[in-house]
Amino acid sequence: MLSNYFSEEEVAEFRVWMDWADDFAIVSHVSPDGDSVGSSLAMASFLQLKGKKARVVLPDAPPSFLEWLPGMPDVVIFEDDPETASGILQKADVICCLDFNVIGRVKDMASSVLYSKAKKILIDHHLGPSQFCDIILSRPNASSTSELLFHFLCALGEWNVINRQISECICTGMMTDTGAFTYNSNDPQFFFIMSKLMEKDVDKDSIYRRIYHNFSEQRLRLSGYVLTEKMEILPGSRVALITLSQSEMKRFCCRKGDTEGFVNMPLQISGILFSAFLKEESTRGIVKISLRSVGSVPSNLFASKFFNGGGHRNASGGEFEGTLQRCVRVFKNGIDEWRKSDDEAIRILFDPDKK
Ligand code: 5GP
Ligand code: MN
Repeated sequence: MLSNYFSEEEVAEFRVWMDWADDFAIVSHVSPDGDSVGSSLAMASFLQLKGKKARVVLPDAPPSFLEWLPGMPDVVIFEDDPETASGILQKADVICCLDFNVIGRVKDMASSVLYSKAKKILIDHHLGPSQFCDIILSRPNASSTSELLFHFLCALGEWNVINRQISECICTGMMTDTGAFTYNSNDPQFFFIMSKLMEKDVDKDSIYRRIYHNFSEQRLRLSGYVLTEKMEILPGSRVALITLSQSEMKRFCCRKGDTEGFVNMPLQISGILFSAFLKEESTRGIVKISLRSVGSVPSNLFASKFFNGGGHRNASGGEFEGTLQRCVRVFKNGIDEWRKSDDEAIRILFDPDKK
């Protein structure tokens, strides 16, 4: 059974907004992933079914393996068309902010969102939301924002409106934010929701194939290169590191999204509990950091302390201004600092006996 995840009190104000507002914009974070795009498109579909105008506006384009998602052709990308995107945000009565906790995560869209006269609601599962919205529904323990959206629609009493398209979007977010149900998915409610989505005719297996068996030939070859040549296990530790430069990505004709999931690969090695992927961005002088950990190892603390980033305990990230070489040095110095830690959750990375 589904618990009352959101109380009537928490959704009551949005219910009132639904009475007077006609024009909704839905925004999510930069480098969109399955959860940000899935939850945004689910929300847009729902609002459209309720007779509202609803547009999804994203800071930059989602990776190609999400192109099949229902509603994708109508998504407006701020980076490609800032005028249209800001126009939508300016005109909106309500802006729904999904899957991010601080306004900086929408990058160049931040001022258009902040200074829009629209009422704003945040639905998110990242720790420590900042107070930039009128309604804040934050649940850091949730698997995904998509799961929260399911609870939100049910709390509004809209179960009957959830159709196959909405369910496919929600399923995508729940699948991708849990690494296809391999982490953050032990709550029995999680699979109860999945079963309810399947009642709406979602083909989970087909969604899995569309997301995870949708690589280009180059991407598969690049992953071979990365594992053979680029993965490093730091001596005396359970820490793995992969770096990738722009020139290497060009050599393999890398497209957006082609490096997705690389950070997870070293965790397939028995005993590895912390994995980092450092990728040189095409914007000069920026390195994107992705971190993944197993169990109690707090990757998000590493992200915030050494890379001004954040995220969840087992999946986090940040950005570094400087060269890839310097970023690697900062990372390795950070690991050396962690070697001195008294924290049990960190010490396990340097304990040869524990698994
Ligand atoms: P990914 O490695 O998939 O890019 O990001 C994993 C998670 O880390 C995201 O869902 C987000 O919570 C967090 N994250 C990634 N990059 C950043 C960043 O630059 N700043 C913050 N605060 N969080 C990030
Ligand atoms: Mn998410």
